[in-house]
Amino acid sequence: MAISSEFSAPSIIGQQITSRNGQLHVPATPFIPFIEGDGSGADIWRAARRVIDAAVKAAYGGKRTLVWMEVYAGEKAKRLFDTTLPAETLAAFKEYKVGIKGPLTTPVGEGARSLNVALRQELDLYVCQRPVRWLEGTPSPVRQPELVDMVVFRENTEDLYAGIEFAEGSAENEKFKRLFQENFPEQYKRMRFPDSSGIGIKPISREGTIRLVRAAIRFALENKRRSVTLVHKGNIMKYTEGAFRKWGYELAQREFADETYTWLQYEAVKKESGEAAANAEMAAALAAGKLLIKDIIADAAFETALTRPTDLDVLATTNLNGDYLSDALSAQVGGLGIAPGANINYDTGSAIFEATHGTAPLLAGKDKANPCSLLLSAGMMLHYLGWHEAANIMDKAIETTIHHKTVTFDLAHLMEGATELSTSAFADQVISHLGE
Ligand code: NAD
Repeated sequence: MAISSEFSAPSIIGQQITSRNGQLHVPATPFIPFIEGDGSGADIWRAARRVIDAAVKAAYGGKRTLVWMEVYAGEKAKRLFDTTLPAETLAAFKEYKVGIKGPLTTPVGEGARSLNVALRQELDLYVCQRPVRWLEGTPSPVRQPELVDMVVFRENTEDLYAGIEFAEGSAENEKFKRLFQENFPEQYKRMRFPDSSGIGIKPISREGTIRLVRAAIRFALENKRRSVTLVHKGNIMKYTEGAFRKWGYELAQREFADETYTWLQYEAVKKESGEAAANAEMAAALAAGKLLIKDIIADAAFETALTRPTDLDVLATTNLNGDYLSDALSAQVGGLGIAPGANINYDTGSAIFEATHGTAPLLAGKDKANPCSLLLSAGMMLHYLGWHEAANIMDKAIETTIHHKTVTFDLAHLMEGATELSTSAFADQVISHLGE
């Protein structure tokens, strides 16, 4: 029987990304698992995939190609496999190392735990990396959004997100409180309404802090950034947030002594020899190209981000602080619809790049949602793979499209003289600007 040319055409053979000691080896045709996502996820994924493929083609003329491999989570997985997070999905991300995902629904209060949190914890993706910079033309609520250029390294596996909680009225809650009361009567008394208190535990470890801060410092050094700021609430939570600050500084002084200058060093000189001497030493260290390691209390970080954004560069912070801070910073440069993000384990090389907004259920199936967050996350992924040319081409085309005020509805209604485009038409525009 004759085989039609359609079936006999050679298809691209995918290969696996591997890693050794955290060093990625990326073949020319890597398998990339993807989760489409719930709600408007399918709309933005369809559009984003076309753009990403076109950018890779524009950069490498067919010598490199991403081989997409759909894996399932959320509502689609529930429909197909009667579970929201099949074991195969986790296995695929583990096996193929680098993947990308759209947003997934998380029930609030009651019900299953967040799938996003589960993925991060199961794969031990301990860094949530969120670059925040303004794309020219994007409507912003602040006067000088162009001054914002930060990269948040948020710890992703510890803190109140560990999910250790005891609900009010539950047997576990009673048991925990009894233990607490017996062993720490003084602390127990500080609970104003013990009978009706729900309880959550905030574990922050030395190892967890060290690997996060190490990743932030390495990133800052590799990308020639000016400073790493440890953002914490150590004035109130001394043995968790305060310890994060302490371990962070210790790590910098232990592992990066030749490449960094810390505020602790500054303080020591100031105490010993006075402020002028400390200023002179710090100025000399920075002039010699050393990376400044400093710290700030979390609430002050929000204030500084608005009033003196250039004081902040790379930020390393705990899970809850990082959650709030990344969204607030994104809002400063035009909102969550365009903020990219990644969850990374720099030791195993595993990484999942993701749209940082939610599922926008009201936009689902309407070809209206803004695909920029997923697209810019894909750009981060291409950089992570070392495919910088494709990433740069794509990022530039997105910027040009926004600059021309051809945008989706969410940006269009904030921009004077904008042309409102559907998700797919926006993708077409970006593709038309690739390589310009
Ligand atoms: P959301 O981000 O879905 O929506 C907030 C607002 O932003 C809405 O007005 C929405 O229309 C708008 N919006 C979001 N994405 C947009 C886009 N791409 N283009 C244009 N407008 C966009 O947040 P929510 O309503 O709080 O959450 C909805 C669901 O998403 C919840 O189940 C939540 O748990 C989940 N969620 C998932 C993730 C994730 O998967 N990473 C993150 C946040 C929320």
